[in-house]
Amino acid sequence: MKIILLGAPGAGKGTIAKMLMQDNGAVQISTGDILRTVVKEGTELGKKAKNYMENGELVPDALIMEIMEKRLGQPDCRRGFILDGFPRTIIQATKLKEILEKLGIKLDYVISLEAPLSLILERLATRRTCANPACQEIYNIKNNPPAEGDKCRVCGHKVMQRADETEEAIAERIRVYDEKTAPLIGFYEKENLLQNVESLHAAETFAAIKALKI
Ligand code: AMP
Repeated sequence: MKIILLGAPGAGKGTIAKMLMQDNGAVQISTGDILRTVVKEGTELGKKAKNYMENGELVPDALIMEIMEKRLGQPDCRRGFILDGFPRTIIQATKLKEILEKLGIKLDYVISLEAPLSLILERLATRRTCANPACQEIYNIKNNPPAEGDKCRVCGHKVMQRADETEEAIAERIRVYDEKTAPLIGFYEKENLLQNVESLHAAETFAAIKALKI
């Protein structure tokens, strides 16, 4: 399976990517998870990315492409990958196409996860994430809460609200999605790769993707 998951913040990309990864062994590559890790580690890259992320803005394309060119060249990607949160701009999508051509990799599909704005806003407000950079398991205080004491059920670390899940940052992330990322739907439609999948309940979304028989 070599797919891209497209969708607004809160559309379910991370949750579905983890379900697919457990199901078929393809690696989940989330630029958001990679960036949160380097921010926590305080690396040069992390220092450059931190402010953009906290304000809900996109990290510059050049930094993202530096990360992704290296990541996609790693041998585990040959077995399959699920790109989660990348690409997010037309520039990233164009450069990704060049990288994949160079590596001789063909994408199966670009899956656009679709959910109404009211559901997206509710998911983002109730989402909690494991603070352990190596885990970053996703919870929801309403329908998938962490263990007692806000502990991650996978690794036992503290589960927290992300720094970019304040009301202002959420509004900015949605605005940025509409402006910079939504145009990728047309981009991949032209490439004949687009599949629209409704993302209301994780189990149903997962089943709809499995039905594509990738
Ligand atoms: P996410 O976990 O996918 O919601 O990403 C969290 C934040 O990381 C985003 O709001 C951006 O600031 C940054 N980010 C993640 N992926 C990208 C990307 N492909 N391009 C630019 N910024 C990104």
